[in-house]
Amino acid sequence: MRDRLRLAVPNKGRLMESTLALLHDAGLVFETTERSLVSRVQNHPIDILFVRTGDVIEFVNDGVAEAGITGGDILADSGIELHVLRELGFGRCRLVAAVPSDSPFESFADLRGARIATSHARIARSFFAAQEIPVDVITLSGAVEVAPRLGLADAIVDLVSTGSTLAGNGLRAIGDILTSEAVLLTSEPARLAHPDELDGIVTMLGSVIAARGRKYLMMNAPADRLRELEDLLPGLESPSIIPLAHAGMIAIHSVVGADEVWGLLPRLKAAGASGILVLPIEKILP
Ligand code: AMP
Repeated sequence: MRDRLRLAVPNKGRLMESTLALLHDAGLVFETTERSLVSRVQNHPIDILFVRTGDVIEFVNDGVAEAGITGGDILADSGIELHVLRELGFGRCRLVAAVPSDSPFESFADLRGARIATSHARIARSFFAAQEIPVDVITLSGAVEVAPRLGLADAIVDLVSTGSTLAGNGLRAIGDILTSEAVLLTSEPARLAHPDELDGIVTMLGSVIAARGRKYLMMNAPADRLRELEDLLPGLESPSIIPLAHAGMIAIHSVVGADEVWGLLPRLKAAGASGILVLPIEKILP
């Protein structure tokens, strides 16, 4: 058994930067150079293997790495059974069926007998088979979105995040087949052999993901406005109330959703709060 856990992560592509940011934010200290395949984490017994996004699953399934980070869609498409230890909150996308904007097709059922171009043939086939809609799946490795314009297909099945690429190619989505985000995964043998180490990684990454959507709010207020202010503070955490040196004044500390801050600040001020500070949170361990 290896004394250092191996974590396979994307070496380029859409998921690479967010993966590295998550690992760094979790406190792992390691270097990334363009050409290195392995990077030794200096403050934790982990080696990071940089591989292609699509190969992460093989590395974990073959036992070359004990854990990996890749897209949930890639796992679904692989047909390989691995354990998803945690969804990671980035790389969010949908696998959609799309047709030319001027096409009469409106729903999956309308695709009966259609030619569908995709690089996700396995998922597309099993999805339409489960829906009992016979289709002809054409496997392409790239440039799927131009297939209808070239007369190669009537529809496509492809990943989208904002939908702007679809629109730019004169296509419109008619339904979602799958939603996906980046995931941390492991194999059954690795899970049995390294439960504590894997738990540690899940906890470290989870604490960063939990903190990303939250802010720490600090403010002073007259003690007699406490009830009013408490009502405004969402119930994510019970606020801490601290008496101040000036009689009748308190400090209130609370954790709130990052997207709530914008709407909350003027209302807190109107309810008597002053000296309001909004601070980033590095990690949250519930
Ligand atoms: P890569 O081929 O290395 O650029 O990574 C592709 C992976 O990024 C996909 O399998 C998805 O998990 C994820 N992803 C997120 N948004 C998109 C998108 N709009 N198009 C394609 N892949 C996406």
